[in-house]
Amino acid sequence: MSDKVRSQIEIATMADGGPSDPWREFRQVERITLELTQAYRYSLGKYSRFFIELENRRFLATRCETCAKVYAPPRPLCPACLRPTAWTELTGKGAVETWSLLHFSPGSNADVRALETPYVLAYVLLDGADTLFPHLLKAPPDQVERGLRVRVAYSDEPVQHPIHLMYFVPME
Ligand SMILES: [Zn+2]
Repeated sequence: MSDKVRSQIEIATMADGGPSDPWREFRQVERITLELTQAYRYSLGKYSRFFIELENRRFLATRCETCAKVYAPPRPLCPACLRPTAWTELTGKGAVETWSLLHFSPGSNADVRALETPYVLAYVLLDGADTLFPHLLKAPPDQVERGLRVRVAYSDEPVQHPIHLMYFVPME
């Protein structure tokens, strides 16, 4: 085993196909585990104001002025009326509609990797909204049930993605 490569290494010999196997000389293979990181830029687009206002501890949704439906998470366009919506502020209070206990983290970014498993992913119907908002609920799993009253809490810790400026907690 090499000590010159700092990755996790596994060396295996694949079964060869006999004297006529043209790849006989290449049947010893090395598998390595690489830790990859990737930085990329993307735009939060028409959703940007939602994230910007989280820094101000304000929770915004959008409302269709034609059908009065309120979207949280915000939608710039009402899918029923195909008309642009308008920003509206909610209290950030709501109730758990359904939830899931996650034993594995997707590890997609530093915010998610920092979560201890298991954690609760809750679908919250915010007061004044017509759609479910899926997000982290910081609560003991045995206390989570449908109808549990929750509120948006705001992170004081630096985060990588602005969606993690908020999470849900049970209301006292
Ligand atoms: Zn509408």
